[in-house]
This record gives sequence, C-alpha cells and structure tokens, in this order.
Amino acid sequence: KEDFYKKTLARLDKIQSHLETAPRSSRLKGKVCIITGAGSLRGIGRASAILWAHEGAKHLYLVDYDETNLPNLKSTIEGKYPDVKVTTLQGDASDENAIASLCKRALQEEGRLDVFFANAGVATASPLDSVTAEGFMNTMKINTLSCFLAIKHASAAMEKANPSRGKEYGGGSIILTASVAGIRSGAGSVDYSASKAAVNSLAQVSANQLARTDIRVNSICPGLIETGMTIATFDYARSRGTAGKLGQLNPMGRYAVANEIANVALFLASDESSYVNGQNWCVDGGLTSTLPTIP
Ligand code: NAD
Repeated sequence: KEDFYKKTLARLDKIQSHLETAPRSSRLKGKVCIITGAGSLRGIGRASAILWAHEGAKHLYLVDYDETNLPNLKSTIEGKYPDVKVTTLQGDASDENAIASLCKRALQEEGRLDVFFANAGVATASPLDSVTAEGFMNTMKINTLSCFLAIKHASAAMEKANPSRGKEYGGGSIILTASVAGIRSGAGSVDYSASKAAVNSLAQVSANQLARTDIRVNSICPGLIETGMTIATFDYARSRGTAGKLGQLNPMGRYAVANEIANVALFLASDESSYVNGQNWCVDGGLTSTLPTIP
C-alpha cells in the first residue's frame, strides 16, 4: 500500500505538469473567455487559464477577488503564449455590476464572448449548529449567486454578439464549478453543500431555457483536489507523511490535481462538446458512483 501511495503522488506530479511536454493545439482557437477565481496559485482557475492559452484561446479575461497572484499569471501566460491576450481584473464574482460590465467589456473589445467559466468559490467546514444565517447567505452569495450572474450576463452578451449563433461561431459555453458535495452529503458544511446543489440546478434550468440560442450550460462537480482551498489539509497531512493517503476512500485511491478538472472544463469550453448541455459532470474518480464497502 505504501508503494501505491508513493507511485500515486509521483503520477499526480506528472499530470499536473503535463503542459511542459504536451504539444500545443487549437481547441479554443479564436475564443474569448472569462474565468473567475483564476488567482489562486494552485487553483482550478489558474490551471484552466494556462491550459486554455495552450489551446489557442484568443483573449482570456481572468478575475479574482484576491489580486496577489494575477500579475504572475498574466506574465506566465504572455511569456509562453505571446499570441494570447490576457486581461486580469481584481473583482468580486458575486457583484452584479462587476460581472455585467465585464461581459460588456469583452463584447466591446472583441465583439464576442464565447466562454464564461464561473469557477470562483469558497469552502466552509462548520457543524450545523455553528452555521449562522449570515454565514449561510454569504456562502450562497459567493458560490451560487455568482453562477446565476454569470449565466444571466454572459448569455446576454453571447446572444448580442451573434443573434444567430451556430452559423458563424460554434456556440456559447457557460461552465459552472459545483462540487460532489452538491450531489451527495459529505463532511462539508450544510451551506457549502446547499450552495453547490443549487449550482447544479442552475446549470440544468438555464441550459433548458437557453438551448434554442445555442448557448450551453454545464456544471463540473470535482471531488477532492489539491488547490488553495484545501492546502491546509494537504500541508497538515504532508507534515505527518500521510498526504498520499488523503484520497484513500476514493475508488481510485487518490485525490485529484487541478489540471484534471481544467481538462474537463477545456472540453466543455470547446466546440467538441457542442451537444453536451444541462449536465452536472462528476469528476471525482468514481466517488459518487460507489457504495462504501469494507475493503
Ligand atoms: P482555490 O481557493 O485555489 O481557488 C478559488 C479562487 O476563487 C481563489 O483564488 C479565491 O480568491 C477566488 N474567489 C473566492 N471568492 C471570490 C469572489 N467572490 N470573486 C472572485 N474570486 C473569488 O480553490 P479551487 O479548489 O481552485 O476552487 C475553485 C472551485 O472549485 C470552487 O468553486 C470550489 O468550491 C470548487 N471545488 C473545489 C474542490 C477542492 O477539493 N479543491 C472540490 C470541489 C469543488
């Protein structure tokens, strides 16, 4: 078993750094994309921004509430992919004015908006009796309202750009980051799980309403990933030499790295997913499809 965990950790490093060796292609060629929650050094948003630049996106608008790492992200992408335009913005994904004006800005500057990846989110971990009404609403605002605003304003901008979408462009894609916590109950807080279940619902309902406009809406439900959000757990486990075991209850025996989620988001952002709509994609190593059994 120890050997399995050691090999798994080495493999995860390889997956995370695959862009160093992967040949460049053009799955997002010409696409104008917005990604929220892009600022975290180890996060899904940053991994997506770099991967999408690698795949030929035309212009990436990268937003985060915390601006600390945005200049580094911009210079990393521009240094490696000089043909990709990068605009970084400090902003709150749950602020309607900020999201509305960002979508308008993309339209003004590029004449189109192809992809909105509503990925910003916060995790909470409190027992039921210590979740306050205010805390509950705050989690709903950041995790759920932000997705609603993305759908509302991105779809308006996408429709405006080309009222007869599908002829000139491959169609618009709105991607929401939910969580397996929105599918099954788990160790997380009630507010977190409820906020992510609502994100899954938003993907279904809005996909249905937008379907005739050729704008697709899907959500991704990741399992445990090593990102900024979970770093404290990982650092603690590392200090005890047990990091490899963090995913041991997963059928695959491991947790995930951000690029494994970014790859799914890439597919949903690309025209390859042109008939994928209104789905909640569990990217969790098989966790939500498994009945717990004694090994
Ligand atoms: P992360 O903490 O590394 O990245 C999240 C980013 O969102 C941070 O940079 C943060 O500053 C930003 N952010 C938070 N609130 C914001 C706001 N109001 N406006 C703009 N930016 C804001 O974590 P991550 O794991 O990359 O998180 C991305 C998404 O994945 C989240 O929605 C999270 O709930 C979801 N998710 C994560 C895991 C996991 O195990 N890490 C599992 C399931 C789902």
